[in-house]
Amino acid sequence: MNLLIMGPPGAGKGTQAEVLVKELQITHISTGDMFRNAIKEGTEMGKKAREYMDRGELVPDEVVVGMVKDRLSQPDCAKGFLLDGFPRTLPQARALDETLPSMGIKLDGVINIDVPRERLMARLTGRRVCKNCGASYHILFNPPQTPGKCNACGGELYQRSDDNEEAVANRLDVYEAQTQPLIDYYKEKGLLKNINGDQEIGKVLADILASLK
Ligand SMILES: [Zn+2]
Repeated sequence: MNLLIMGPPGAGKGTQAEVLVKELQITHISTGDMFRNAIKEGTEMGKKAREYMDRGELVPDEVVVGMVKDRLSQPDCAKGFLLDGFPRTLPQARALDETLPSMGIKLDGVINIDVPRERLMARLTGRRVCKNCGASYHILFNPPQTPGKCNACGGELYQRSDDNEEAVANRLDVYEAQTQPLIDYYKEKGLLKNINGDQEIGKVLADILASLK
């Protein structure tokens, strides 16, 4: 089975990707890892990407698509794959659609992990860090024994500026603006599987599997 997975920051996409590839015995392709490997191994596309990055420029879509194409041609993808972190934009999705048929690959589904915005806000603004030793807590998922104090050293906990409401809201706005056209695109193609991500991990997985039947 050949799948894509999408989801906003804080939706638990990474966790679901890990359990899903085990369950379906397919290959997980995280585009971040793919990028690092292509650059490390010095593939043709990796070298091209490197040139743009060294100049401080964005790597253009044709180079990213080239890397994805190289990766999907490797033998471990023949049993199926889960592409995670790509495409991020509509032009990338279109480029992927032009590439896959020439490789004899057909997409079977696009999983979209959906979590209400207020839940994402709560998840993403809950991190607290110790000023003294750097230990990390979460007010919902991993609260300190005494509110505002580090378990390890008693230091004061604070919220990093990129975890505050305004920064998180901004990150979610950017994600939504970029992703909504993608969601509409895959919906029109009949590939979109909208999954309620505001449930326990096992239930989310079960819903994904049911949507693929
Ligand atoms: Zn501490």
